[in-house]
Amino acid sequence: MNMRVTRGEPLRLMSVHAHPDDESNKGAATLARYAAEGVDVLVVTCTGGERGDVLNPAMDRPGVREHLAEIRRAEMDAARRILGVRQEFLGFVDSGLPADGEPLPDGCFARQPVEEAAGRLVASMRAFRPHVVVTYDETGGYPHPDHIQTHLVTVAAFDAAGDAARHPEAGAPWQPAKLYYHGALSKAWFQAMHDAMTERGLASPMREVLAEFPADVPAPEFSTRVACAEYFPVRDRALLAHATQVDPGAGFMLHDRAAEREAWPTEDYYLARSHVPVTLPEDDLFAGLRGK
Ligand SMILES: [Zn+2]
Repeated sequence: MNMRVTRGEPLRLMSVHAHPDDESNKGAATLARYAAEGVDVLVVTCTGGERGDVLNPAMDRPGVREHLAEIRRAEMDAARRILGVRQEFLGFVDSGLPADGEPLPDGCFARQPVEEAAGRLVASMRAFRPHVVVTYDETGGYPHPDHIQTHLVTVAAFDAAGDAARHPEAGAPWQPAKLYYHGALSKAWFQAMHDAMTERGLASPMREVLAEFPADVPAPEFSTRVACAEYFPVRDRALLAHATQVDPGAGFMLHDRAAEREAWPTEDYYLARSHVPVTLPEDDLFAGLRGK
């Protein structure tokens, strides 16, 4: 199948996420880099993040929890502008993170039948016509039911979007050429940050996280590594725009930025499906698609 993009036609990238803030903590510098280079980038957010917690103590004040859905929409819009991308909500309801044995709430995203839920994303793919789609792998990258559902729905939509017989109500068929999964936040990444900070004589905040990984996690074999260190500061500003979710004094905000740029200047992906010939490893999500 010849899917090379004609010279002059803008490349289009769709990044599918579960909640507002996920686009800023997985692959955000990649989105900012491609957007700056003229790629049309659309973030699709499956849910409104209505059941999220307030994770930044400075934002845990009266009025915030009661209006979390609206606040998260405004945060998402601020982050989108910082990254230089478009964004749309698919309109599903956040499933929350139920405790062990607790059922998922009625009507939430993770309880929707995959094929039906995929219909909405198929409509979005047929309208935006992305060349490349990015989402989570089958583990969700993080064991939240909405992340796993996002994976299932995106794969189903990727496989259905080009088939006129499936979801005929969702617009004219469009087959995206490549599907990627995020390789973010691997044990190897935490270890590299830990080593780089220790070498610089800095206290590493990674020890506890590293201890949570099993000892025998194999080294990741990324198919695609996108150089984007120049855009890490943009990523950080987008993250901080999600003020109810991101504590500037904790978690991902803690590791040394200079050490990160030096030790791990890429964001990394696995190619899951391709309708164009590829040569792996790659350093570009659009490898094999750029017009001559
Ligand atoms: Zn999430």
